[in-house]
Amino acid sequence: MQYETMPNFLKKRAFLTPERTAVYFNEQTLSFRELYENSYQAAGQLQGLGVKKNQYIGVLLKNHLDTIVILFALQLIGVKAVILNNRLSKKEIVWQINDSKAAALILENDLYEMMQDLEVPVITKDRLFAVTSESPELLEEINLNDVCTVMYTSGTTGNPKGVLHTFGNHWWSAVGSALNLGYTDSDRWLCSVPLFHISGYSILMKSVIYGMPIILHESFDADRAINDINNHHVTIMSVVGTMLYRIVDALKDSKLPNHFRCALLGGGPAPLPLLEACKAKEVPVFQSYGMTETASQIVTLAPEYSITKLGSAGKPLFPSQIKIILEDGKMASAKQAGEIIVKGPNVTKGYLNRPDVIKEKFDQGWLHTGDIGYLDEEGFLFVLDRRSDLIISGGENIYPAEIESVLLAHSDVADAGVTGINDKTWGQVPAAFIVLRNNAHVTEEELKQFCLENLAKYKVPKSFYFTEKLPRNAAKKLLRRKLSDLLQESWNHK
Ligand code: ATP
Ligand code: MG
Repeated sequence: MQYETMPNFLKKRAFLTPERTAVYFNEQTLSFRELYENSYQAAGQLQGLGVKKNQYIGVLLKNHLDTIVILFALQLIGVKAVILNNRLSKKEIVWQINDSKAAALILENDLYEMMQDLEVPVITKDRLFAVTSESPELLEEINLNDVCTVMYTSGTTGNPKGVLHTFGNHWWSAVGSALNLGYTDSDRWLCSVPLFHISGYSILMKSVIYGMPIILHESFDADRAINDINNHHVTIMSVVGTMLYRIVDALKDSKLPNHFRCALLGGGPAPLPLLEACKAKEVPVFQSYGMTETASQIVTLAPEYSITKLGSAGKPLFPSQIKIILEDGKMASAKQAGEIIVKGPNVTKGYLNRPDVIKEKFDQGWLHTGDIGYLDEEGFLFVLDRRSDLIISGGENIYPAEIESVLLAHSDVADAGVTGINDKTWGQVPAAFIVLRNNAHVTEEELKQFCLENLAKYKVPKSFYFTEKLPRNAAKKLLRRKLSDLLQESWNHK
């Protein structure tokens, strides 16, 4: 018989280690017993408002203790949470609520005014917590194949897609990570990434599955992070590149304490200068590769390889597999670039209401990521770029990320984006969009020269455009498809 059920995660955890701390948030702490009791009460309040098992319910909340309680309350009664990004515009949020066909929206009190004209019921946090709690019908057993959450992709390559995460996806993501990083009783994970992203939500799931305390911040602040790492005994922290840059800057001449054992870096490519700066400050960085669809990282590089395998995202976690395939579907050989395909119990079973995308992206259990990369002889993954951003110039493949990484290493460059523009001779050629640091005076010629020293000639951008700001989405990811819109308003020093 195949085991597909498990006890409800939070209820089980509160039974196993009730007195252990679950969350530190500002001056407040909650033990697992208290987290369960509060979530149980909120589950009864949700039920009192007519929220039912198996419904999709939108959630638009900030990083806060109450958010954790509400997210677990939904899990306790088997409601599928459509977790929305509170940095999006109203238009984008409404698009996602309509796309998901959510039956209601639970939101922050101060967002009510903005969202009150939705076609579905809008429930503020205050209203939810004021309802008399019924005794909730608990989902005592979860089915690992059932959907637990829906999260939208960042929308970097087009419209966002609602990724279905089953309980099993979250379970295996937490297990895969523990098998990789190990887990001890003294571990504490700092969550200053948003709970509405898989990066943040996956920390909640790890907390309950491992019995591990988390420290929750409303948002990221480098000094506060360093302070809590020192004084709250944080051992692990999830970061994206910009956060790590700021930590390294804020450290000045100091170092992080020895108990801090892992900065788990995800979300996008890690520029080499950043990795080198971390090495110099002895910040233990675990590079990783993953996407919303893989319920957090699927590939990780341990720090002992950070120099010998500089730039690699590592090897797939124990329960997961990756392959590189060529255009004709054949497997690539070592060092040969192709599309990264992934498989594993942490990989989504598909997208909400999008059978067309499921058909396009899944083949015999393998998800086609749309990312290009290669494996070296030892099986370490190197991510090159997204397939949709690839520039083909005179038959040569050019990866914008590689050029951007070189440009970002220039001390006068604050931000850089590269895209292909049409060219009579070569089909396409790379063009660079540059945001200079304050008071920088570098010229196009000097930047070209700098690129020539670091890149093959055909990869050096043919033109440079200087601009105030690059187009980025709510996750701060560069929207390369929108770079050419800047041509009008940028200036070039020719
Ligand atoms: P959309 O799917 O809507 O276009 P998105 O892919 O940016 O948005 P996410 O799921 O947040 O949405 O991001 C996952 C993507 O981030 C990966 O598919 C990959 O392109 C990029 N990424 C993640 N880790 C790395 C890495 N280590 N190196 C390079 N790229 C990475
Ligand atoms: Mg994607």
